[in-house]
Amino acid sequence: MQNQNLGIAPDEMRVTALGTGRPYSSLAQANSSWLVQLGNGDSFLFDYGYGSFTRFAALEVHPGALTATFASHLHTDHVGDFAQFWVTSRIAGRLQPLEVYGPSGSSPELGFAHFAAHQLESYAWDTVSRRGSLPEAGETPTVHEFDWETTGIIYEQRGVVIRAVPAVHVHDGAVSYRLDWNGHSLVYSGDTAPNRFLTDIAAGVDVLVHETANARGANAPVPGPESIVHTNPWELGSVFALTRPRLAVAFHFMNDARTRQLVSDAIRSSYDGPLLLAEDLISVRVGSDISIEVIPVSPFSRPPASGRGGYGAGSAAARPHLSSKLREARLFTGESDA
Ligand SMILES: [Zn+2]
Ligand SMILES: [Zn+2]
Repeated sequence: MQNQNLGIAPDEMRVTALGTGRPYSSLAQANSSWLVQLGNGDSFLFDYGYGSFTRFAALEVHPGALTATFASHLHTDHVGDFAQFWVTSRIAGRLQPLEVYGPSGSSPELGFAHFAAHQLESYAWDTVSRRGSLPEAGETPTVHEFDWETTGIIYEQRGVVIRAVPAVHVHDGAVSYRLDWNGHSLVYSGDTAPNRFLTDIAAGVDVLVHETANARGANAPVPGPESIVHTNPWELGSVFALTRPRLAVAFHFMNDARTRQLVSDAIRSSYDGPLLLAEDLISVRVGSDISIEVIPVSPFSRPPASGRGGYGAGSAAARPHLSSKLREARLFTGESDA
């Protein structure tokens, strides 16, 4: 695995927002997605909501550097770019299966394995049409479904430990995650109402990335309990005060001039520690200190040139079928049919 971690020191962790918005996404805020890059060369993706692949591509990190992805739950604003990360990263040069993790549901058809299998099935034409030009090794993701009720380790490799705990979000089958590596730690809430599973794993964590919602019409956050779906900004202040992370990060709300101060004031009503209201492409570096930067990107990104050696190396025997009447209808037939 190549280390293309944008200058990360060997002992650092970097947490970058690829999507910080609500389901109704905007040009400024893609749906939920967080990239975690480690100094050992590993890269992990926590959620991949709609629009997040575009942010990932803008970093011009080689897609082959993605070690594994972790879905918090199966709402489209958290997994809507599944096909983009799977297929487009392969086109860009990822030459091995994508490792994808996600929780089971209350019945098999509500679990991650069912979701992934049907994503693959629905893109059968895409898959078949690319055979023969892309290496088959990267064609099918490796799917890991784990019990949504787990409160333990679901991934442990190369010194990286990732735990899942249940999240309280509408229906059984949503989870939150904690990653530990080299003494650094991150908790990612996914979507959840405030709950003790999360506060238990988040106490004293380096970075707590937690959702909040300025829901119910208009743009203003709403005081009072937000039922079993989300964490309102007042409640989020209490969660941060209870867990005391080194850096508290709020996301999953409309973060603009109309709402920012309201959300901040609500959180600050009960929390006075370090706080970041996340925007897309903001990045947190975690070492002995924690620093925050906005990653400069070009709107005209390109796939990294390196690591594409296998492109065009697919099996000729697997090439897709094109009818002779379509071949014969071409205006220019001088080039090879291969
Ligand atoms: Zn959700
Ligand atoms: Zn959501």
